[in-house]
Amino acid sequence: MGIIVQKFGGTSVGNVERIKNTVNRIIEEKEKGNDVVVVVSAMGKTTDQLVSLANELSSYPAKREMDMLLSTGEQVTISLVAMALIDRGYDAVSYTGWQAGIVTEAVHGNARILEIRTDKIKSHLEKGQIVIVAGFQGVTEEGEITTLGRGGSDTTSVALAAALHADRCIIFTDVTGVFTSDPRYIPNARKLQAISYDEMLELANLGAGVLHARAVEFAKNFSVPLEVCSSLEKVEGTFIEEEVAVEKNLIVRGVAFEDAITRVTIFGLENGFRNLSDIFTILADHHIDVDIIIQNQTADNKTYLSFSIKDKDLKDTADILEFNKARLGIDHFETETGLAKVSIIGSGMVSNPGVAAKMFQVLADNGIAIKMISTSEIKVSTVVDEKEMIRAAQCLHNAFELDAVEQNI
Ligand code: ADP
Ligand code: ASP
Ligand code: MG
Repeated sequence: MGIIVQKFGGTSVGNVERIKNTVNRIIEEKEKGNDVVVVVSAMGKTTDQLVSLANELSSYPAKREMDMLLSTGEQVTISLVAMALIDRGYDAVSYTGWQAGIVTEAVHGNARILEIRTDKIKSHLEKGQIVIVAGFQGVTEEGEITTLGRGGSDTTSVALAAALHADRCIIFTDVTGVFTSDPRYIPNARKLQAISYDEMLELANLGAGVLHARAVEFAKNFSVPLEVCSSLEKVEGTFIEEEVAVEKNLIVRGVAFEDAITRVTIFGLENGFRNLSDIFTILADHHIDVDIIIQNQTADNKTYLSFSIKDKDLKDTADILEFNKARLGIDHFETETGLAKVSIIGSGMVSNPGVAAKMFQVLADNGIAIKMISTSEIKVSTVVDEKEMIRAAQCLHNAFELDAVEQNI
C-alpha cells in the first residue's frame, strides 16, 4: 500500500477508446490497494489546436489570455476521466490546477511551481477516492491562472509525487520508455532500461520531448522514483534514478535534438565588464532563455557576441535589444533563424576527452557545418542548419553505436 501518481499524456487520452484504456490502467493500480493520484494532459492535439486558434485571431496573443485558453484543454480531460471512473463504480474527483493547490510564480506561459498545498488531495485519498488533477497549470498567489510550458503535465505529476511523498511516479506515454534518441526519427534508437537523473535532465533540456526538463529536476531534487512507460503496450519502461549500474561504463547514452533555434549576433559592443551582464540581465528579466553564448574581441577592441535562443522568443528579444540599443552600447545586431541544436549526452564523458573530437569529426565527414558549440561535463551540443538536424543525429547515433548495448569511442 502506498501513494502512486500516474500521468497520462495527450495521446493516451486522445479519444474515447484511449480514455477507457487509461481508466483501466488507473483501476489496476487502485485494485492493488494503492492510493492513486492521476494527472492528465489535454486530449490529443487539443493544445496545438488552441494555439492555432489564438494565432488566427492575434499576431501576438496576450500571454495572460493564452494561459486562460490553454488551461481549458486539461479541464476537459479531468472531468471525462473522473466520469468514466465513476461509471465503473469507483469514487473519483477531478481538480483543476488551482483547485488542487498548485501555486506558481507569476509568469505566464512558462511558470515554475512554487508550492503545492496538498490538504485537499490528501483528504480525498483518505476517503479512498481517486483524485484526477489537470496537468500543465497552476495559479499565482494573486489568483491568476498560469501554465507551465509545453509538456508541463510531466512536471505537475512529479511535483505532486514529491509533495505527497508518493512511492512512485509513472509517466504513461506513446512510446515504451526513454530511448537513446527520438524513435520517431531515429529508427534504430534503443530503449534504455534505466537512466540517471543527470543524464535524463540533459536529454530533456536538449530537446528529448519525452519528459519535461523541470519534471526531471523535481525528481532529482526530491528523489522521486520515476518511470516512463507505454499506456498501450504492457512492457517494462525506463527507470530514472540516481545511479544507473547496468550501463555505467557507457560513454554516450543518447542523442537529442531540437529545431526552431535562432542565433542572435550583436556587433560593435564597447568593451567593458558591465555591458555583457546588462544584456543578459535584461533578457533574463523578460524570461528569455538564452542558451549557447559565444563572445569574442575584435582587433578594434570591440566585443562581438553571439547567443542562441528559441524561435518563439525572437520577437521579444529583438524588441528588447532594439529598445535598449543605446543604453547597452549596441551598434547593430543580426538574427539567423532556421537552426537546430544536436547534442550527445553521457556521464562517461567526464573522463573521456576524445568524445567531442569524435563528434566534430563525424559531422565534418558528413559535410555538416557546425555554427555554435557548447560543452559541459556530460554533454556536447552543436548548432547546425535545421535541414541537417535529423541526418546529423542519425550519423552521431550510428557513429557512437548507440543501437548496440555496449559501445566504445
Ligand atoms: P505525451 O503526450 O505522452 O506527453 P510527448 O509527445 O510529450 O507525449 O512525448 C513522447 C514523445 O517523445 C515520443 O512520441 C517521441 O517521439 C518523443 N521523444 C523524443 N526523444 C525521445 C527519447 N529519447 N525517447 C523516447 N521518446 C522520445
Ligand atoms: N497539453 C500541454 C501540451 O500539449 C501539456 C502537456 O501535454 O504536458 O504541451
Ligand atoms: Mg509530454
